Amino acid sequence: MRQKLAAGNWKMNGTGAALAELEALIQTQSAAKSEILICPPATLLSRAADIASESNLSLGGQDCHAASSGAHTGDLSAQMLKEAGATSVILGHSERRADHNETSETVAAKAAAAWGAGLTAIVCLGETLAEREAGDTLQIIGAQFATSLPDGATAKNTVIAYEPVWAIGTGKVPSLAQIAEVHDFLRAELSTRFGAEMAATTRLLYGGSVKPGNASDIFTTSNVDGALVGGASLKAEDFSPIIAALDAS
Ligand code: PEP
Repeated sequence: MRQKLAAGNWKMNGTGAALAELEALIQTQSAAKSEILICPPATLLSRAADIASESNLSLGGQDCHAASSGAHTGDLSAQMLKEAGATSVILGHSERRADHNETSETVAAKAAAAWGAGLTAIVCLGETLAEREAGDTLQIIGAQFATSLPDGATAKNTVIAYEPVWAIGTGKVPSLAQIAEVHDFLRAELSTRFGAEMAATTRLLYGGSVKPGNASDIFTTSNVDGALVGGASLKAEDFSPIIAALDAS
């Protein structure tokens, strides 16, 4: 009912030489059952799209502007990403929320722009360590969910990634019970707001220090349909076993 999704976020890593990792991934994962998505730096998108054109690997951006064009030095529109070969775009990653003061309102405007360009929005939500320790996790996730997703979200145009801020790039991972609690909550929130059919078909990814060694356990957790992977997506030899674990889940 929900095709599993292994998404890699290369962040600000990779020049042309890194495209060899895409070629290796395509070679080793040509029979993968899961959908595979790599979000390289925008500078590599066109070349990556050429390499991936005949493969089962698709490409995404890491952010887009809410406007379709204009005086926004350094920004990229959703249409530009689409033309460069993206099918998806990550929005509201905690690094963007922290480094660029992105609010959930901004994320919603970007999601609408992504949809307008025909991109799937991968909307990231996550609590800080202080928020978790204060017992506020579900309240924070609920508020981010309510505001970051515009009306009109569908299983086709939207993927949600639960990424606890304190687990990103730290090697710390929530317990499986903590992951399940948030994913079950998000599935219920989707149903309340968008209906049972949409909730049953929308992918929920977990992100935060997913590695070959912990992927199998995470993928058997309730309502986890895949992962958004940072560091371990940079090398095909690390990402491939994660995809294999997802296929086996
Ligand atoms: C991310 O950047 O979305 C992420 C989850 O990073 P990492 O896997 O390195 O923790």
